[in-house]
Amino acid sequence: MDRPEIILAPGPTPIPPEVLLAQGSPLVYHRGPGFGRLMRDVTARLKELYRTDRADVLLMTASGTGGLESAVQNVFSPGDEVLVPLAGFFSERWLNLATAMGLSVRTVEDGWGKKVDPSRLADALAERPAKAILLTQSETSTGVIQPVEELARVANDAGALVVADVVSSLGAVPFAFDDWGIDVAVGGSQKALSASPGIAFVAISERAWEAHESAALPRFYFDWSIYRRFAELPDPENPWTPAISVMQGLHAALELYFQDGVDAAYRRHELLSRAVKEGVKALGLDLFGEGLDTNWTVTAINAPEGIDADLISDRIRSDFGCILAPGQGPLKGKVFRIGHFGYFSELDIIRGLAALEMTLERLGHPVKRGAAVASAEGVFQEAAVPG
Ligand SMILES: *Cc1c(COP(=O)(O)O)cnc(C)c1O
Repeated sequence: MDRPEIILAPGPTPIPPEVLLAQGSPLVYHRGPGFGRLMRDVTARLKELYRTDRADVLLMTASGTGGLESAVQNVFSPGDEVLVPLAGFFSERWLNLATAMGLSVRTVEDGWGKKVDPSRLADALAERPAKAILLTQSETSTGVIQPVEELARVANDAGALVVADVVSSLGAVPFAFDDWGIDVAVGGSQKALSASPGIAFVAISERAWEAHESAALPRFYFDWSIYRRFAELPDPENPWTPAISVMQGLHAALELYFQDGVDAAYRRHELLSRAVKEGVKALGLDLFGEGLDTNWTVTAINAPEGIDADLISDRIRSDFGCILAPGQGPLKGKVFRIGHFGYFSELDIIRGLAALEMTLERLGHPVKRGAAVASAEGVFQEAAVPG
C-alpha cells in the first residue's frame, strides 16, 4: 500500500484529521441555514485574518489563480494601466494574467530573490501614473516576503489602487488590510489555513468597489456584484454550486487555527522557518533570497556545487515519499524549496531534515549525519526553555 506522501511543499499543505473528517461528512445543502452558518463563520474568521472591519470578503470556488483572475476582471477595463514589480514566478503570473485580460502592464524588474524596492516603485509611479499596482506578498518561488506595507503606502500616495496576492501568506505572516491601505487581497484555502484546494477568497475595499462600478472587462462566473448579493441573503449563499465539502473543511480548519490564534500561528511559522534555515545551513548549503529572517513561509536553498537541484527533490521523493518543491523559472535546477507554513509540527520539520540529510549523502554531498536535525533541535529547545 502506498503511504501518504510527506508534504514539505508550499501548497497544498498537510491537512489535519479534523479537517479531513469535516470535509468527508454528509453534504450540507448549499441553500439554507446550514450552509449559511458555514459561510457566515468562515467569512468572519477570514475578516479577522485579513485584519479588516471595512472590507467585504467574498468566497468563490476556484484555486487561488481564479481569485486573482476575478480581481482583474472586476476592477479594470481594457487598456487600463497597471504596474507589476517583478521578482519571481508569481509576480510574473500577475503580468501574464493582466496581459491576457487586455490591460496595459508596466513592470519594475527587481530580480528573482530580491525584495521589491519601494523607492523604485515610487519613481515608476512618479514617471507615469498607474491605476493600480499588483503585488505578491509571499513570492513562493523565492521565499521572499515582500514589504507590502511600504509598497502600499507608495501606491496610496500616488493614488494607485493596491491589489495583493496573499495566497501563500495570509495566516502565515502579518497582514493588515485596513491599516496598510490595501484595496483587493486574494487568498486560497490550501496554503497557511491547511484546508483542501478549491476555495479562493477576496477582500474588497470601498475604493475597489467604486472601480468595480465602471470596470468594463467581460465577467460572469466571477462577477463580484452577484457574489455580494448572494452573500447578503439572510442565509448567505454562493451564486453557483459551491465546493461544499471544501467549505466544510475550511470551516473546521479555521476553527482549529483560531484555537491558538493568529499570533501563535505567526510565532510558530517564525520558529519552523528558523529551524529549517539553521538545519540546512548546518549541511553546508546556502540559502537563496533576501530577507531570510522574515521569510517564514518557504525556504529556497541553493543546491550544492555539482548537484542539480531537481535531482534532490526527485530523489527525496522516490526514496522517502517526501515532497519538496523544485525551483521555478530561472531557478529550475538551481534551487529547491521547503514549505513550512500551515499544519506543521516541530517533528515534521525534523523528519524532513533527516530525509534531506540522507538524500544529500546518497547524491554524493558530504554531510555530517544528524547535523541538520541537531541544529533544528537546538532552535526548538531554546524556544522551549521557560524564561
Ligand atoms: C499557490 C499560489 C497561488 C495560487 O495557485 P493556485 O494553484 O491557483 O491555487 C497564487 N499565488 C501564490 C503566491 C501562490 O503561492
